[in-house]
Amino acid sequence: MILGLLKEQGEEQRVALLPEIVSKLVQAKVEVYVEKDAGASAFQTNEAYENVGASILDRTELLKKAEVFVQIGEPSLELIRQLNDKQVWISQYNPLWNTDLVKAFLANGVTSFSMDSIPRTTRAQSMDVLSSMATVAGYKAVLEAANELPNFFPMFMTAAGTIRPATVLILGAGVAGLQAIAIARKLGAQVEAFDVRAAVKEEVNSLGARFVEVEGAIDDSAAGGYAVEQTDEFKKKQQEAINDHAAKADVVICTAQIPGRKAPLLIPTEAVERMRPGAVIIDLAASTGGNCELTRNNETLIHNEVKIIGQSGYPSLMPIDASKMFGKNVFNFLQLLISEEGDLNLNFEDDIVKGTCITHQSEILNERVKSVVE
Ligand code: NAD
Repeated sequence: MILGLLKEQGEEQRVALLPEIVSKLVQAKVEVYVEKDAGASAFQTNEAYENVGASILDRTELLKKAEVFVQIGEPSLELIRQLNDKQVWISQYNPLWNTDLVKAFLANGVTSFSMDSIPRTTRAQSMDVLSSMATVAGYKAVLEAANELPNFFPMFMTAAGTIRPATVLILGAGVAGLQAIAIARKLGAQVEAFDVRAAVKEEVNSLGARFVEVEGAIDDSAAGGYAVEQTDEFKKKQQEAINDHAAKADVVICTAQIPGRKAPLLIPTEAVERMRPGAVIIDLAASTGGNCELTRNNETLIHNEVKIIGQSGYPSLMPIDASKMFGKNVFNFLQLLISEEGDLNLNFEDDIVKGTCITHQSEILNERVKSVVE
């Protein structure tokens, strides 16, 4: 296999593979080419890649030379147009949203894999970039909230009086939410969390947070871990409960998402208007519309003295460890595509390879993407 590691475009600071992972690929008999300065914003020099056996090329040469390309973010349409049907693309390109990219891959027959489509099975856990990056986002969101809040997080008993601990409300207790709970607790805040999946209550409690409960929910225990549709009356009660808890919170961290769909609206403008002056909302769902009605992606705004930070890009702001985790996930996935001789081996009998492949020879393989694009 001839693998090309591309430099990310725009503001992205991560790199898809650190030199330590490139070293493992070289040992697996893969020929690795790295675009010049691909690792620079993640503090990885060209020499560090050369030292583990990779060669540095400029983008034009790399695009001609490699058969498998790896990067983190979405490719541009212009880049896809330069690829051909013998080449393989691997990145996190969100095909359920970016259907124009899917169509461009189809047009020139490129085999494309999107890392956000890794099946959520036990065997694929070590390849799950969504979980890895959610871990980074949950951690960073709490640190930013603590930094922005005009109050302490922990309780302090000092000669100058007692300071009460901050109250943090976390909406959505998936991977990012649970990580945010753990970090907010470590910083000494009182934490409350809400999720539509009642099954996460135990996990929330075990991290030392209180689960916001709404009576009258339809039992979802037989739904295999997925949320079930609730009655309108229940939804109304649920919204009132969230509004009441948000009004008392110093910080709200929004992490609720539904894969491939717009994020659920949980904090309407009226709820923001009941919050304390100086309170902070961090909305990790910003790129899919946000959980707060007022959120703007990649913007910070102030409404009634409440600061609302729309930020889905925290992993890029912690580029070394985020790249380390992303690269390890990609390496584990690549092992399914590399033969013992180091050649490219596309085995669509493997459920992870098949589930992650979006386009192959001008056909859409992924069933969910197929239903959205066709
Ligand atoms: P996600 O980012 O898609 O969503 C975050 C959370 O938002 C979820 O817990 C979801 O229930 C919640 N949510 C959605 N709509 C909501 C609403 N209206 N109100 C409140 N909360 C709402 O999910 P995620 O963090 O990527 O994963 C969720 C769960 O999936 C994890 O907790 C885990 O149990 C499971 N998971 C399994 C695997 C695996 O088996 N390999 C890997 C990762 C995650």
